[in-house]
Amino acid sequence: MTYSNVSLKHSLRSCPTKMLKFLGLVSVTLVLGDHVWAKREFAMPSEANIAKAKAILDKTPIIDGHNDFIMGTRSLIQNDFTNFDFNSDLTQVEPWASYVYNHVDLPRIRDGRLGGQFWSSYVSCRSAHKDAVQLFMEQNDAIKRLVALNSDHMEFVTTAAGVEAAMANGKVASMIGVESGHAINSNLGILRMLYEVGTRYMTLTHTCNTPWADAAQAESGSQPVRSDGLSPFGVEVILEMNRLGMFVDVSHVSSAVMSDALDVSRAPIIFSHSSARAVNNVVRNVPDSILERMPDNGGVVMVNFYSCFIKDDCDATLDDVVDHVNHVRNVAGVDHVGIGSDFCGIDEVPLGLEDVSKYPILFAALLESDVEWTDEDLGKLANGNLLRAMKEMETVRDSLSGEAPHQGWISSEDFEPDETSCMSEMN
Ligand SMILES: [Zn+2]
Repeated sequence: MTYSNVSLKHSLRSCPTKMLKFLGLVSVTLVLGDHVWAKREFAMPSEANIAKAKAILDKTPIIDGHNDFIMGTRSLIQNDFTNFDFNSDLTQVEPWASYVYNHVDLPRIRDGRLGGQFWSSYVSCRSAHKDAVQLFMEQNDAIKRLVALNSDHMEFVTTAAGVEAAMANGKVASMIGVESGHAINSNLGILRMLYEVGTRYMTLTHTCNTPWADAAQAESGSQPVRSDGLSPFGVEVILEMNRLGMFVDVSHVSSAVMSDALDVSRAPIIFSHSSARAVNNVVRNVPDSILERMPDNGGVVMVNFYSCFIKDDCDATLDDVVDHVNHVRNVAGVDHVGIGSDFCGIDEVPLGLEDVSKYPILFAALLESDVEWTDEDLGKLANGNLLRAMKEMETVRDSLSGEAPHQGWISSEDFEPDETSCMSEMN
């Protein structure tokens, strides 16, 4: 889930739009009254390269690091799947058709060659220190029920081998990614129970600090600098995630937390949905100083498609996403770049990358970009890097089998006074 500060977005969305196709150039002009707000255009890749990209993705389907569809099932149908058909064209079915975050259904998944997905279990920071643990468990339950109801097309998996087997059977390997650290209510027992239900990554923060890790917003000033990175308890969270075999996800955190996590983690870490700060300078993107450390860590930076992270005026196209992917590749290396669209959590999508059916267009555009992408490279971008990192994480877990569960408790002094009012043992 991504929040945007761009005030015009929703008014623009409701304005008349005009789609032009001319000599392979695709452009959109957004018009409000007499005023032309923006003009976007990109070169549609050739049919030959789109066919080539589809052939590559048929062999190495996309594993996407972050999709917020379950946020929508909560808000639109209260996670009641009784009359819900995921294997239908949700662009034609209400309430989905008029939903701004309508980016996925099984037919579009097949078109897009999506083979694996971390489904985001997300509830907002408003739940922190209140009913967060319950709400996250409700979202975890919804993910597992959605997958079970669509077992002809999806399979719930928790291991790299499970991902590979599901994809080989033509099913969408489905995993839980918990967003974010407020899900554990500063307690390692809850972290362990999230692992038990199948969670395989946890983003350390969302847009608010946790009592043990600072959010990216601590860099922009909209959150205070609190731990200035990871607190001692935050370090223990990382160590326990390593021991369990759960990816540490450092999308959404401050650069100080990214750096601390790289210092502390014994396993590869991921950015489940983050782009490149050198290409667009927003705090949610990854600085080069961090990208440069990815080869030593072995982790993966999965590029986010949100238009306002991709381009400073939020007016992004497919070509701008190509720039981010190429930058991450050039700085972190071809073994450390992946895809983390943030679909279903973003209300502005790049022209040409409107939903999960469009991954092959992105891969075709990469084939036509200034950076040379071999078939093998594109396979790494699609799923190879994430699977390699996941196997390395599992190897670290196995190597730590003699380590006892971490049993530290967060210090009561790490809480602000207003954060303990709902805690019965603190009052
Ligand atoms: Zn997010």
